[in-house]
Amino acid sequence: MNHSPQDPAGRMAWLRQTLHRYDHAYYVLDAPIVPDAEYDRLFAELQALEAQYPALASADSPTRRVGGAPLPELAPVRHALPMLSIRTETDTSAQGVRNFDARVRNALGLTPADPPVEYLGELKFDGLAISLRYEHGVLVRAATRGDGEIGEDVTHNVRTIRQIPLQLVGAAPAVLEVRGEIYMRRDAFEALNARQRQAGEKTFVNPRNAAAGAVRQLDPRIAARRPLSFFAYGMGEQVGFDLPATQAELLERLARLGLPVCEHRCLALGPEGLIAFHARIAAIRDRLPYDIDGVVYKVNRFDLQRELGFVTREPRWAVAHKYPAQEEITRLIAIDVQVGRTGALTPVARLEPVFVGGVTVTNATLHNQDEIDRKDVRIGDWVIVRRAGDVIPEVVGPVLERRVGNPPRYRLLEAHPTCPVCGSHVVRAADEAVARCTGGLFCPAQRKQALLHFAARRAMDIEGLGDKLVDQLVDAGLVGNPADLYRLEPQTLANLERMGEKSAQKLVAAIDRSRHTTLARFIFALGIRNVGEATARDLARHFGKLDALIAADTQTLQRVPDVGPVVAQSIATFFAEPHNREVIAQLRAAGVHWDESKPDAAPDGPLAGKTLVLTGTLPNLSREQAKALIEAAGGKVAGSVSKKTDWVVAGAEAGAKLDKAQALGVAIIDEEGLRRLLDRGGFPAMNTGEEHA
Ligand code: NAD
Repeated sequence: MNHSPQDPAGRMAWLRQTLHRYDHAYYVLDAPIVPDAEYDRLFAELQALEAQYPALASADSPTRRVGGAPLPELAPVRHALPMLSIRTETDTSAQGVRNFDARVRNALGLTPADPPVEYLGELKFDGLAISLRYEHGVLVRAATRGDGEIGEDVTHNVRTIRQIPLQLVGAAPAVLEVRGEIYMRRDAFEALNARQRQAGEKTFVNPRNAAAGAVRQLDPRIAARRPLSFFAYGMGEQVGFDLPATQAELLERLARLGLPVCEHRCLALGPEGLIAFHARIAAIRDRLPYDIDGVVYKVNRFDLQRELGFVTREPRWAVAHKYPAQEEITRLIAIDVQVGRTGALTPVARLEPVFVGGVTVTNATLHNQDEIDRKDVRIGDWVIVRRAGDVIPEVVGPVLERRVGNPPRYRLLEAHPTCPVCGSHVVRAADEAVARCTGGLFCPAQRKQALLHFAARRAMDIEGLGDKLVDQLVDAGLVGNPADLYRLEPQTLANLERMGEKSAQKLVAAIDRSRHTTLARFIFALGIRNVGEATARDLARHFGKLDALIAADTQTLQRVPDVGPVVAQSIATFFAEPHNREVIAQLRAAGVHWDESKPDAAPDGPLAGKTLVLTGTLPNLSREQAKALIEAAGGKVAGSVSKKTDWVVAGAEAGAKLDKAQALGVAIIDEEGLRRLLDRGGFPAMNTGEEHA
């Protein structure tokens, strides 16, 4: 790199070479290396140097050419009328507009005494230019701009764009080349990227590149799957067209021929109206459903346009007046995580402050670990940040050519083995891109969501506990987890805003009523990921007792109808988190209960018809858990040993029951033996969750 101001020739050569490289990536590969703002800065610098040192300017400068070389795979199309670029007014203040007007008046030889020039203000759509050739009203060819002289034949793809009529409306001229912009709406772009992300594929940098990539595909099916839109804004060759006199009339004619024309345009006499137009559009830019990078001012009368003509790559009768860039370049200082309402950990980029999309941005989302891997973003990188519309700022990717050395890759699970909010374990399910905090019942970040779900009608059915109240209770610090609900007193509640004594009493009564519930509802109310109402019911029916469910490992869980490995894993993970078990214990202590007799329990487990007696302390299982597992396997647990007892399960400090078993010759086993019994017939071992603690 050569930045030396003492060596303009070297600097210019470097700028030319760099811009050539950026051009190729942008125009030919549809995969820009740097954001437009950065490109524009270098471009302007080169232009300035060329003006200052005309002797050092070279004919192959990017400042003298339009676009990029056509793709060799696409058939070349020679444009009868070249497709030009538009000069960007570098002075983006109101003065820039006045300068443009002054240049136009000067070139037309107008004096201050002459009337003001009429202009048309239009939006500058951020898509790609296209030339649509209609012969006798029928679309016969669509071509990209290419290098301005020779474009690419992309008719096969353009035919898939619904907004582009295959047939013009009404009496059509023999030949009419319609020029306009193909673009992708922002919502279509976001949806496309969401799909790409879900499919584990690379996301697109911005709507422009997604659109350009689609139009320049060889396979029209790919283009057809990307929802593209179109605005007509001009014309090329025409034969037998009753030529309008102005740009404004042309747009109206194009609209009448059935072509989409943007509604945002404005006629102005002199520069002041254009300045107002620029401000008006700036105010609605974020709300437009598509990206624009500025507005364009065009001399309205075609005869004046012809008189003004063009220089190298730009007409003299038009200028682009840009808005703050929606993509910028900055340093990625660190990666933090944010815990969402559902426990998802989203990596967030901490950025060196950068002005983008009209605001200063210091954070941007990185979505998830897979995205970080796919984009290969590393701490310390220069990154491209995009902020368009009201979409949250996003790190689009690194500027690889600026990476110094080989910084380590980021690993979210290594950086955050536990939740930064509540300290519960963080896991990432095999089938999921997202890492999650497992402390669903406990984590402050998930509190409101957990409480709302807990209280829902199909869960604990606490009447009157909706989102406003949950917000109030949590924000006032009265409720942290569902168990706290059962400690609420009418007096405390009555102090809340908009809560009278009567409604406070009603709420406490509703909470009290919810104490008596069913196991299925309770399981559903816990908000275990992937456990909906039906699964909760299946689990309740299968296990009969909550402790059996808590103790079950993933294999045991998969014996439940419709419970596959993914659901089994989320259940096991949930109960493995001690914070969750603690809240469950609190709920039970608060009197939440249900009928645990299990009339329709499957009597066909490996212990069907068998009677077991428990004595002493087992190494891993509590008495409750062992009992629940035996029952879930079809067995019965009796309180005393008799001849009918099939096995006595003895743990440490077993007492009289063990002596009696020996006297009666009843088989005595330990926990390990019980495990083997349960394993028989594929009834697998249990998971106490302790090893995760
Ligand atoms: P341009 O895109 O700035 O302007 C010309 C184009 O504007 C036309 O071809 C047309 O497609 C479009 N346009 C949109 N609305 C229009 C309207 N209402 N009337 C007429 N035209 C309209 O110029 P350019 O020469 O195509 O390309 C330069 C742009 O491309 C710059 O913004 C530059 O930043 C960007 N670029 C970026 C990189 C990169 O590496 N990031 C590389 C090359 C070019």
